[in-house]
Amino acid sequence: MNVLEVSSLEKRYKEKLAVKDISFQLKGGACTALLGPNGAGKTTTLNMLAGLIKPTAGKIMAPDSPDDIREMIGYLPQYPAFFEWMTGKEFLIFSGEISGMKKENAERRTEELIALVGLEEGKNRKVGQYSGGMKQRLGIAQALIHKPKLIILDEPVSALDPFGRREVLDLLKTLKKETTILFSTHILNDAEQICEDVLFLHEGVLIEQGAIQEVKARHHKLRLTLHFN
Ligand code: ATP
Repeated sequence: MNVLEVSSLEKRYKEKLAVKDISFQLKGGACTALLGPNGAGKTTTLNMLAGLIKPTAGKIMAPDSPDDIREMIGYLPQYPAFFEWMTGKEFLIFSGEISGMKKENAERRTEELIALVGLEEGKNRKVGQYSGGMKQRLGIAQALIHKPKLIILDEPVSALDPFGRREVLDLLKTLKKETTILFSTHILNDAEQICEDVLFLHEGVLIEQGAIQEVKARHHKLRLTLHFN
């Protein structure tokens, strides 16, 4: 069953056509990497899926949740904003409450998520004292607070040092058991470690999609051409 079906999606910013007529489906339970170099249109695509910006044309459908696409998605933007004076635990409870949960439910879900993302030790520390990797794990927990069917993560490891990167990639592997994942990156190696499927954007055009290994075999020269590592 597809959790999301995207058809002929486009985004124009004045004269710039940033995303050009892209169509794809996301299979439930799968991990899909949205791959592409800087400026390819990844953030624009993800922002449209998350309902943050309006497409210029095209459709986004959720066959299983036609009326509440936004509610079925958890989103971690590329530059997430946190209330740094709160502790991690306070921040997650607050996030649950503003998404409509009763306080006791938000507290229960927060404890589950703290264990899931491995923030037990830091949960009572102020978010402002967190490392980059801890902040990303907190952001992932926040995206999961309302048990979404799909989480969308915009370059969740790009700004991290190798240690933080490893931690977050390992967490994403674990999360595959919980939910469907779509995440963007410009590093093929990150995608290969956790995802089966890939969407390959280049200058706003979806030039490839499918199983990563098949796409790689078809485009074995692409890594060199586009400077992927
Ligand atoms: P990166 O890896 O650098 O984050 P990206 O693949 O996420 O890049 P986008 O941020 O979606 O790419 O940008 C796609 C294109 O659209 C770029 O040429 C960018 O300059 C342009 N663009 C993005 N947002 C706007 C905007 N608000 N107004 C005008 N042009 C924009």
